[in-house]
Amino acid sequence: MPDVKSSEHIAPCGMNCYLCTGYQRKRRPCPGCYGPDENKPKHCTVCKIKNCEELARGGSGFCYSCESFPCKRLKQLDTRYKTRYGMSMIENLQDIKTHGIEEFKKAQVIKWTCKKCGLLLCVHRERCQDCGEVNEGYGPIAN
Ligand code: SF4
Ligand code: SF4
Ligand SMILES: [Zn+2]
Repeated sequence: MPDVKSSEHIAPCGMNCYLCTGYQRKRRPCPGCYGPDENKPKHCTVCKIKNCEELARGGSGFCYSCESFPCKRLKQLDTRYKTRYGMSMIENLQDIKTHGIEEFKKAQVIKWTCKKCGLLLCVHRERCQDCGEVNEGYGPIAN
């Protein structure tokens, strides 16, 4: 089972950077939301959620403790990911709030591990990069 070591790659919006193509690519991988900007795509360096001033006020470092949660910006991101990739940022955040970050990460590993080869799947890919098995989590979430 892949080793998910720390919470620093779970972004304030609920994105699990371990599952991102940027993080998983072999060449110049993205260091994740809290990592240095080198190798990060522009949209993640200037991300309005990560740089939101309200985050500091909430205390947890995650959007769930914000008074405006879920704000319009977060809802837009959530809709995009639910529609295309089968991941809900808002649901992730609610899980982190309810069960804590460690339980969340454990559940994520189970949910996103390839059943055939044991590699961590990518939220942005329809198939396992290693063995080609279908990523069952991929695709629109029914409302
Ligand atoms: S590209 Fe963005 S979402 Fe992907 S790992 Fe980097 S910071 Fe996280
Ligand atoms: S939910 Fe709150 S902290 Fe998160 S981006 Fe929206 S306004 Fe900022
Ligand atoms: Zn596989």
